[in-house]
Amino acid sequence: MKFADLHLHTQFSDGTFTPEELVLHAQKNGLACIALTDHDTVEGCARTAAACAAVKMEFIPAAELTAEHADTEVHIIGYFLDTENQTLLERIAQFQTVRQQRIHEMVAALNKLGVPLKVETVFALANCKSPGRPHVARALVKEKLIGSLDEAFERFLKKGRPAWVPKTKMSALESVELIHQAGGLAVMAHPGLNRTDEIIPSLVDAGLDGIECFHTKHSTVMSERYLEMAEQYHLLVTGGSDCHGYSKNKPLIGTVRLPYEHVERLYAARQKLHATNGHK
Ligand code: AMP
Ligand code: ZN
Ligand code: FE
Ligand code: FE
Repeated sequence: MKFADLHLHTQFSDGTFTPEELVLHAQKNGLACIALTDHDTVEGCARTAAACAAVKMEFIPAAELTAEHADTEVHIIGYFLDTENQTLLERIAQFQTVRQQRIHEMVAALNKLGVPLKVETVFALANCKSPGRPHVARALVKEKLIGSLDEAFERFLKKGRPAWVPKTKMSALESVELIHQAGGLAVMAHPGLNRTDEIIPSLVDAGLDGIECFHTKHSTVMSERYLEMAEQYHLLVTGGSDCHGYSKNKPLIGTVRLPYEHVERLYAARQKLHATNGHK
């Protein structure tokens, strides 16, 4: 049987693997298809596509967009994005600027609390256009200002903690539209993490194409509930590990294995979208 992992991050956002390392791990796990879903960027897609092509692995260019709906943060993944679509690139560049500005604000908040972290340390470590809280956490650990990544989130960076800084987000409805105009399918990531069940119907009305039923942090019961929801609303089913690199000394990639039949349905839906949209 063939399997896919459709939720993966690299160094182009807050993952720790290079695209080449990611593909090597995908190969070791016998995956037939992967998607790159870095936060608010498609920059890593070209290199990941090349690395996949070299080992004859299927690749889906994607991005995980940070959005909000009814005051709740939601992550909407766009699959099969045209990574050269100007409207998409211009809009996500704005959110990359927001992310960079937020690093300055988080470091300033830490400094105010007496934690002497330098903003240069975070940017040097992140070395990407789409930095986030994990980079701040890693910089704190690297500088021995805190014992662990978990502790960094617990003490400082989690929502409501003293160095947490909210970020301006696009609306979920806009994210769905942005993805569609860039030739992609819009899928709600890890609905079980954000307790967003009640907003799913309105996103379906706005054109949501699928939901991520299988995810590292979804229990079996949760996955079953979302599978039922997918059936009820005629949504595509996706799944992935949300690998950001090593987790407890093991790469997370491959721990969630999406049966390939769901990938075939994604391809079919893309065909249909392109037939109506006039994309290639
Ligand atoms: P940001 O996009 O800057 O808000 O950071 C979000 C990312 O931080 C998520 O994709 C996770 O990788 C990571 N993250 C969020 N909460 C935690 C937590 N409590 N512990 C560790 N990592 C977290
Ligand atoms: Zn992340
Ligand atoms: Fe996410
Ligand atoms: Fe993710």
